[in-house]
Amino acid sequence: MSDINILLEKNKAWASKVKAEQPEFFEYLSAGQSPEYLWIGCADSRVPANEIIGAISGDIFVHRNIANMVIHTDINCLSVIQYAVDILKVKHIIVCGHYDCGGVKASMTDEEYGLIDNWLGHIKDVYRLHQEKIDALETEKEKQDLLCEVNVLEQVKNVCNSSILRKAWERGQDIKVHGFIYDVSDGVLKDLNVSVD
Ligand SMILES: [Zn+2]
Repeated sequence: MSDINILLEKNKAWASKVKAEQPEFFEYLSAGQSPEYLWIGCADSRVPANEIIGAISGDIFVHRNIANMVIHTDINCLSVIQYAVDILKVKHIIVCGHYDCGGVKASMTDEEYGLIDNWLGHIKDVYRLHQEKIDALETEKEKQDLLCEVNVLEQVKNVCNSSILRKAWERGQDIKVHGFIYDVSDGVLKDLNVSVD
C-alpha cells in the first residue's frame, strides 16, 4: 500500500471505530459546530492541538502557523479570530507556543531560509523587545526557551490589541485570552499565566 493510501485506510478504521462506540456522533457533528475554544498554535507536527488536550472533533476551532504568530496584517489569522469571536462566540482564545520551536530557533540565527525569512522577521522583533533578558541567560537552550515563552506573551498581546477583541470587550462579550506553552519532551502543557479578559 502506498504511504498516502495508509492515511485513507486509517481514516476508515477511525470512522468505523467512532461510529461503533458512539452511533450518533457524526450525526451530532453534522448539525454544526459550537466550540468554546479557539486555539492558535504552531504548525509543528509534534503539537497537534486536539490530541494534546484530549479534545474530540467539534471541541476546538484551530489556527496553526509557523511559531504561533498573530500578525496584525495576516488576513488569514485575523479572519479565523473574527469568525471565532463574532460568529462562534468562543469563550477562550489560547495562544499556544512550544519549546524547541523550529521557527523560533531559526529566527535566532542569521541563516537564510527564503520566503519564510519575512515571517521570521516578526519573531526577531519579539527578540529585540526582550533582548536584555534573553541575552543575560547562559545557554542557547535557555535563550530559545525564553524566546518561545515571550513570543507567546507578545502574540497574546496582539490578539488582545486586535480590533476584533477590542470590539468584543467593548460590547461586553465574555471572552478570555490565554498563553500556554507545550513541552514536546514530556507532553506537558503549561499556563504562562498571562490571561486577559
Ligand atoms: Zn514551532
